[in-house]
Amino acid sequence: MRHSSVSADSVYPRPLEAYGWSTELDDIFTSVTDGSSVPGRVVRVDRGRCDVVIADGDSAVSVVHADTGPVADPDPMRLPCTGDWAAVSISAAGTYVQALLPRRTAMVRSSASQRSEGQVLAANVDTIAIAVSLDAEPDLGRIERFLALAWESGAQPLMVLTKSDLAEDADAVRETVEQAAPGVDVLVVSATTGEGMDILGACLSGTNVLVGQSGAGKSTIANALLGRSAMDVQKTRGDGKGRHTTTTRELMPLPGGGVLIDTPGVRGVGMYDASDGLQQVFSEIEALAEDCRFRDCEHFAEPGCAVVEAIEDGMLPQRRLDSYRKLVRENEWIASRSDARLRQDRLKDLKAQGKQGMANMIAKRG
Ligand code: GDP
Ligand code: ZN
Repeated sequence: MRHSSVSADSVYPRPLEAYGWSTELDDIFTSVTDGSSVPGRVVRVDRGRCDVVIADGDSAVSVVHADTGPVADPDPMRLPCTGDWAAVSISAAGTYVQALLPRRTAMVRSSASQRSEGQVLAANVDTIAIAVSLDAEPDLGRIERFLALAWESGAQPLMVLTKSDLAEDADAVRETVEQAAPGVDVLVVSATTGEGMDILGACLSGTNVLVGQSGAGKSTIANALLGRSAMDVQKTRGDGKGRHTTTTRELMPLPGGGVLIDTPGVRGVGMYDASDGLQQVFSEIEALAEDCRFRDCEHFAEPGCAVVEAIEDGMLPQRRLDSYRKLVRENEWIASRSDARLRQDRLKDLKAQGKQGMANMIAKRG
């Protein structure tokens, strides 16, 4: 069978480098496979099946349609999602996802169903670019919500202010957004004039996603970054057994290196249990609170409140504190819906990943 050649020379799947494979993944892959599978990256998920891009010889890739039965799990958080690295078994018996490699990062949202379980939208994302159009007043609360979600996933957020050709004062908006986004680079771009697009391209290495309100300019940027030819990646070759003609439209290599994940789910993403992320979005408030006289200061009218002092001194906009409170409340409500079992699972995962600080926080919350 054609695929036997794939397993024979797949010690290092060089063609997968364009899809984000790195030497660090070699050992991880070896630890989850029994030797009969090949490494691949999930580029699209279906019910019970998914498309996985695998190396096809030394210089090409192909996409296989794999059964996810062996990795089925009652917890939707553990199901394959776009961006996952997988061990795929290809034989006369069929094409199966044998195992998933541990995720470095995960973008999560609460599922649409009544049950409060989370759903992973994209895995192993390095940069979450948040697109905000400069043709209107920026909605800072919305930006902070996206930032919380981005930080929470483990990825690095990047602010991309789009349509600079329509902006009245792009610099002023950039400064305002910078205030709402400590620790985050803020770029100003225009797909129309090309302003800032080279810098944006240079900022996107590894695995990237674009999020933001509808109309913010995400598709236009994606098309500009990808160039047209990249939209249709690899036509199927060979006998077609175990694969089908497809493109990897939802996970695409960028010409300058790295990949872009663009799925309908990622586009409509909301916030899900992002307490850790919120601390990072509002890191300056967290830092000020260290100097409050009382450990449990709520920053209303307590004596010796460093946060209120900063507002009175004009160092911290009142809007930031209001937004912080609002998002913390919203997040507590979302978090309260997660059942204890899921939380325990998450705790285990986080401990395994060594994110002890956050694991302790979840444990405290109960
Ligand atoms: P999405 O919903 O976030 O994917 O946004 P789109 O990429 O579809 O863009 C929404 C609208 O903004 C479209 O009509 C685009 O042509 C327009 N647009 C996108 N980027 C720019 C830009 O840099 N300058 C201008 N003037 N218009 C843009
Ligand atoms: Zn205080």
